[in-house]
Amino acid sequence: MRGFLQNLRNNFARFMQGRNGMDELGRALNIVVLVLLILSIFTKWSVFYILALVLMGYMYFRVFSKNTPKRYAENQKYRNFRYDTKIKWNKKKMEWNQRKIYRFFRCPMCKQKVRVPKGRGKICITCPKCKAEFIKRS
Ligand SMILES: [Zn+2]
Repeated sequence: MRGFLQNLRNNFARFMQGRNGMDELGRALNIVVLVLLILSIFTKWSVFYILALVLMGYMYFRVFSKNTPKRYAENQKYRNFRYDTKIKWNKKKMEWNQRKIYRFFRCPMCKQKVRVPKGRGKICITCPKCKAEFIKRS
């Protein structure tokens, strides 16, 4: 029995050679699949179930894929996306924490975010980036 399991493990290791395996995107897909399956159980909506199956298929396709450069690029894209959302989330959190002292506006010309002290009435704001002026109530 022990020899059989060892053999199975060796065979699997050989099978997985040169294949992508589980990466961060794979693990994220796994979690999404689980959430979708749980949702499908509670809502009884087949949409969730079908979506879960499709994503599961994609996940296993990526695990067993031999086109590792392409899978690596996908994983990098996912990591960049996660990094960007984290930065955005942190900015939102910072604005929320400062909401009692500052107000945040977007420059109408260049869309740059501008922070001004709160409670000064109507003020003329000069954009630090493009120097455009606009009037807002602080
Ligand atoms: Zn501007």
